[in-house]
Amino acid sequence: MKTQVKALVVGGGAIGTSIAYHLAKAGWDDVMLIERDELTSGSTWHAAGLLPLFNMSYATTHIHKYSVDFYKSLEAETGLNAGFAVVGNLRMAQTDERMDEYMLYASTAETCDVPYEWLTPDEIKSRWPLINTEDLKGALYHNTDGYINPADVTQAMAKGARQHGADIVRKLQADAFHWNGTHWEVTCTKMVEKGGNLVESDEQVVITAEHVITASGNHAQRTAKMLGIKMPAVPVEHQFVVMDQDPELVKYREAGNPEHPVIRDADAQSYVREERGGWILGVYEKNAPACFEHGVPDSFRADLFPLALDRIEDQYMAMIHRMPSCEESGLKDDFNGPICYTPDGNPLVGPAPGLRNMWLAEGFSFGITAAGGTGYYLAQMMVDGEAEIDMASLDPKRYSQSWMTTEFAARKNEECYDHVYVLHHPDEERPAARPLRCAPAFDRQKALGAQFGWVNGWERPNYYGPIDAPENFDHDARSFRRGGWWQHAVDEAKAIREGVGLVDATAFTKHVVKGPGATQFLDWFTCNKLPKIGRINLTYALTSKGTTRTEYTIVRNGENNYYLVSAGAWTEYDADFLRKAAEDKMEEFGYIEIQDVTTQWGVFAIAGPKSRDVLKEIINDADPETALSNKRFPWLSARQIELGMCPVNAIRVAYTGELGWELHHPIEMQNYLWDLLMAAGEKHGMKLVGARAQNWLRQEKSYRAFGNELGRDATPAEADLPRFIDLEKDFHGKDAMVETGVRFKCCTLLIDGPDDADPWGHEALYLEDGTTRVGRLTSGGYSVAFEKSIGMGYVSPDIAVPGTKLKVKMQDKLWDAEVTVDSPYDPTNATIRVTG
Ligand SMILES: Cc1cc2nc3c(=O)[nH]c(=O)nc-3n(C[C@H](O)[C@H](O)[C@H](O)COP(=O)(O)OP(=O)(O)OC[C@H]3O[C@@H](n4cnc5c(N)ncnc54)[C@H](O)[C@@H]3O)c2cc1C
Repeated sequence: MKTQVKALVVGGGAIGTSIAYHLAKAGWDDVMLIERDELTSGSTWHAAGLLPLFNMSYATTHIHKYSVDFYKSLEAETGLNAGFAVVGNLRMAQTDERMDEYMLYASTAETCDVPYEWLTPDEIKSRWPLINTEDLKGALYHNTDGYINPADVTQAMAKGARQHGADIVRKLQADAFHWNGTHWEVTCTKMVEKGGNLVESDEQVVITAEHVITASGNHAQRTAKMLGIKMPAVPVEHQFVVMDQDPELVKYREAGNPEHPVIRDADAQSYVREERGGWILGVYEKNAPACFEHGVPDSFRADLFPLALDRIEDQYMAMIHRMPSCEESGLKDDFNGPICYTPDGNPLVGPAPGLRNMWLAEGFSFGITAAGGTGYYLAQMMVDGEAEIDMASLDPKRYSQSWMTTEFAARKNEECYDHVYVLHHPDEERPAARPLRCAPAFDRQKALGAQFGWVNGWERPNYYGPIDAPENFDHDARSFRRGGWWQHAVDEAKAIREGVGLVDATAFTKHVVKGPGATQFLDWFTCNKLPKIGRINLTYALTSKGTTRTEYTIVRNGENNYYLVSAGAWTEYDADFLRKAAEDKMEEFGYIEIQDVTTQWGVFAIAGPKSRDVLKEIINDADPETALSNKRFPWLSARQIELGMCPVNAIRVAYTGELGWELHHPIEMQNYLWDLLMAAGEKHGMKLVGARAQNWLRQEKSYRAFGNELGRDATPAEADLPRFIDLEKDFHGKDAMVETGVRFKCCTLLIDGPDDADPWGHEALYLEDGTTRVGRLTSGGYSVAFEKSIGMGYVSPDIAVPGTKLKVKMQDKLWDAEVTVDSPYDPTNATIRVTG
């Protein structure tokens, strides 16, 4: 057995074998996979094998699509039949809202080239007469996926991996990881069978690997402890039952009819598929408990939990309603197994926080569907430096190490499980494990009607509803169209355009970068010129492929002292990248200190034509009248000011594109400052404004948002931000960015959409004649300035020209849209620069 390899994959389930296959196929020699037991002996063996393509996430849909295409090709390559039954997938809707949801799914599907078809209840009945359609509104059908045998597809990938040169070693458990500065030394224990149990032998071996990838399934918590990190991957119990033969089904099939598609009755929280003349019923029920929070017991091998029939009674009855012919069929078999989850249902794929050459592929709840694509895109990240798609939404660091706990993960994962078939409104907010991270002003905001959104654990006001609204979550306000919150957001957006509004932006990520090497480092790390002392700049850190890794507002407080502000959802993601880059460059540039000061500083953003008037009331200055004038406090500059007794680092920028300041203040003085601002603002009609209105306003200014327009699949040049790129200097990713050129380009569109809906940023874009798809939206919303829908997205450069007429697909219809100039509202920045 080799003890020195380039890449060591830990875990021989569907995920690990796919990663080994794709790394070996990509040309890496010396790929080894170790499995503590037998291949597939984790969750993989008891999966139902369904391969659902649809998903509202662009990255996940790409991953699933790759898998489905890849599995179809595996037999030709390996000679092993993975039992792929391409029977199609039927998503049925019992309500108009569910149809709305499917229309949004269909938009994402289109942008990822996934084919689909709409079916009426009559069409469903005529194709599959055993289905009771009387209470259905319709269905979304697509015929390219189906189900597969999970163990067979894993064995096929394992064989393929071996064919490409990988080694697979069974009965070897990774027990300790040590980074020696250039390689991982992984201490492994040989496992042996004893009385039906799997136990550790005395035999150990140390494998040295340049890269390690963990794909340890239900053992993620043990893996996390060994690595000294936290992972919110905790399994939940998931069950499906296999029923005896259904005589009607047998007759139907004997008459020569094809197999039924996988039938998803989302409103009944269940899926059904054929199995040898009977049916398999799988459910996503309420109250399924999390398990193995503190590790998998030694006694649990390829085992199952007892069936909890009482938990799935409603879904069972609903199935009899949907397939009346199965009423007399008894239960043949049952499976209740651990299925790994994460709080948002997306797996954790990418570099581990704080560690070098350690890659995680954990927390898969649809791991059979995701395995192929995960292996493919992760191998791209490892071998080429980046994947073709932006993998940020799967990055393990989207949950910060500083606040995440096992209890949080367990409760959130239970919630995620029972939400699988809940309507996934894009404006959904889920209540479990909240509130958790609260800025001091939380209670004050709540008392004033704030409806909170979840940002990396923080509670951030989405909008302010009626003061007597129930709890923190106005569930009834959600919709696939304009939710109950919409009018509140319109009023808030107007307040900023016409008067003054106050936004809580405390969740922003904040870093201090200082020390003798700081200036040279940041000059190399980011693509824009560094600001002069007292000034600020918007800039981008790039990947090695020249795409956007992070957007920063940089404030220069001294010759070698910088304050970096980036998106609130990405604190650990940004911190990890920044720290690792600084470590790498310290020898060259000198000492660089990086401090994550996110929780030390609160941020209020005050904006609107009257914002200066409000601040003048409370600024403590020899001449309050001129303290905030353009002369003393120009646009894009930073000053230390005093508001009453609160020291404030004020930055003259506004993400809303209006005259405004960000007020960065010591977090412990937040309530004092809040009360002061509220009192001063009252006289000027200041309105509290949430993140949703702010998101609309920034689109009127064409301000790109990280995670939407900005990500690892487009360069800043493609995001059409040439004014923030200094081609005169050398910076990380520059050559790759220049070489990439502009494949597609970001633009802003004004949209004549339906009266009751705006785009969400998932929609497909078509040429004006409606025949050719030319791009996709990455943001969407409503413009109060233009009184119509607005969106931002990507199309080819020749189309991203102001005046080009396009169509946007919303609710399965095409709506007129026009590409606008960049920043359609106040293109000359006159209102931002106004003096006073
Ligand atoms: C009842 C049920 C039905 C399901 N149905 C579907 C479905 O229809 N479609 C779908 O896509 N998904 C389904 N799933 C989910 C699917 O089973 C999982 O997402 C998938 O199997 C995860 O694969 P994995 O490789 O990540 O984990 P696993 O299959 O659990 O593999 C992890 C492996 O790592 C090994 N390991 C752990 N620690 C170590 C170590 N330290 N050293 C060496 N080896 C180690 C384990 O022994 C294990 O074999 C279902 C799950 C359940 C429970």
